[in-house]
Amino acid sequence: MPAPQQLKDEALFRTACLVGGDWIEADDGSTISVDDPATGDEIATVPSLGPVEVRRAIEVAAVAQRDWRRVTARERARVLHRWADLLTEHRDDVGLIMGTEHGKPWEEAKGEVDYAASFLEWFAEEAGRANGDVVPTFRSDSRVIVLREPVGVAAGITPWNFPAAMIGRKVGPALAVGCAMVVKPASQTPLTALALAELGRRAGVPDGVFNVVTGKAGPIGEELTSNPSVRKLSFTGSTEVGRTLMAQCAHHIMKVSLELGGNAPFIVFDDADLDAAVEGTLVAKFRNSGQTCIAANRILVHERVVDDYVDRLTKAVSGLEVGATTDPGAKIGPLIDDAAVDKVARHVEDAVGHGAEVVLGGSANERGGRFWDPTVLVGVKADTAMSCEETFGPVAGIDTFRDDEQAVRQANETPYGLASYVYSRDIGRLWRAVEGLEYGMVGANTGFISSPVAPFGGVKESGLGREGSVHGIDEYTELKYVCLGGLDR
Ligand code: NAP
Repeated sequence: MPAPQQLKDEALFRTACLVGGDWIEADDGSTISVDDPATGDEIATVPSLGPVEVRRAIEVAAVAQRDWRRVTARERARVLHRWADLLTEHRDDVGLIMGTEHGKPWEEAKGEVDYAASFLEWFAEEAGRANGDVVPTFRSDSRVIVLREPVGVAAGITPWNFPAAMIGRKVGPALAVGCAMVVKPASQTPLTALALAELGRRAGVPDGVFNVVTGKAGPIGEELTSNPSVRKLSFTGSTEVGRTLMAQCAHHIMKVSLELGGNAPFIVFDDADLDAAVEGTLVAKFRNSGQTCIAANRILVHERVVDDYVDRLTKAVSGLEVGATTDPGAKIGPLIDDAAVDKVARHVEDAVGHGAEVVLGGSANERGGRFWDPTVLVGVKADTAMSCEETFGPVAGIDTFRDDEQAVRQANETPYGLASYVYSRDIGRLWRAVEGLEYGMVGANTGFISSPVAPFGGVKESGLGREGSVHGIDEYTELKYVCLGGLDR
């Protein structure tokens, strides 16, 4: 646990929902349990709110939003900056809460707190630049003015794999432009969201402008998508749930953005800098113990350099220590739950059954529980489960190719289109691959692509819309065209 007394600021350990500035329980007192993936022990319980309490949260958000949208952009920016500063100031505590409910290594947990804060900062700065337009007119007696207005109340539904950053990436742009938000965090990691809410309150986010509701996903999702006061849904999670929510949003024609699953290819051409490619693989594959939506899921290496690449990668991966958040030196944490372990085991077994060879790891870690050994497999064929579904674990599955076009074709053979990676020293070859990859994001000679300055998002079944960057605010604004006429009278 982090027992609250392990935290420098015990008040960050919140176990009630924030609605309209009040910390509330479920009307019927029901709760859901949150556990520590490293031990399976219960850390806390949080309220299991039903549609009635969620409706109340939406109502208070709608009222609060009427005032918040009138606050100047400069003042909204100040609040977001203060929130970012408080997150940074309390990074150890928030990191510890996150690490305990999620299991990510300590440095990664603190890094994620900084990453979440960076979205608040970025969008604080964008608040003052959410401009409309004055367009050259089409009639001499009229003027064409385009206002950019907040959509109103926005709902956010977030996953467990980045419990702070996925909220920062939504709440930053929403609040910057004058929306209010109701966020439902993943049931496995609600405590980070509640700590963020506590810091938001201290930063001066007005009551009702940011609300966190926890509980059973289905009924909460139905209320958030059927209540006409909610004008926008931003969802990050699996493609399967995204599809359901998109259908639910169709009823009110609600504005939707979806950040969904991926199946990222990682292509290494035979002229690539192999040390750089291995360094990139460590980030793109093993960060967050392989539990990222942009994780390299299919590593495609030119057959001329595959042996060399595998040797170097195996050496690097064998140095990744397995341990819990607070174990010094741990680089690979536990997987989120037993189902995640079962999935990784199934993928490895299936790949081996189809002829793959285990070069490193390949089984549960000796600590047992949800810990899995960092694994390298070669000869992972295109029709295996590992190549078709997100593995979401610390398993690098490698296949080979002969020519560039074949590699890009194979990379595109998936319904997903989130992140992709390609390594080559030849700029022409690299660029041809970049243009050929049907993905929302390409890491060209890098495995590290996440940043608040960049538009994050996917194509095909990986989603709709972009988060972060100057485009991030588009998702929370509507354009209102005003034709001001009669000017010649
Ligand atoms: P998930 O099962 O889709 O859950 C995501 C969120 O949706 C959770 O808050 C979950 O609540 C909620 N949810 C589940 N069923 C729902 C329903 N019927 N109605 C409304 N909400 C519902 O995904 P996950 O396992 O948490 O996260 C992993 C997935 O997210 C992976 O596929 C990963 O690739 C994707 N992801 C994508 C991005 C991106 O930016 N593209 C970033 C991170 C993760 P409960 O926890 O209460 O079930």
